Amino acid sequence: MMQNKQKINCTVQSCAYNNCQENQCTLKQIIVTPCQDCNTQKADESMCSSYKYNQEKQ
Ligand code: SF4
Repeated sequence: MMQNKQKINCTVQSCAYNNCQENQCTLKQIIVTPCQDCNTQKADESMCSSYKYNQEKQ
C-alpha cells in the first residue's frame, strides 16, 4: 500500500498512463524491473513494466 505522497515523474509520452502535459505517471504505483541482458551499470538497466502502449497518442 502506498500511504505516502510519492509522485512518479515520467516522460514516456507513448504510454497510455502518461499525463503528457505534466510529464507524470497517472498510476498510483508502478512496477520497475531489471532489463534483460543489460550490463551498462547505468539507468537503462531498469525499466517500467507498467508501461502500456497508447495507440491513440501516435
Ligand atoms: S506506467 Fe511507466 S512508462 Fe507509463 S507513464 Fe507510468 S511510469 Fe511512465
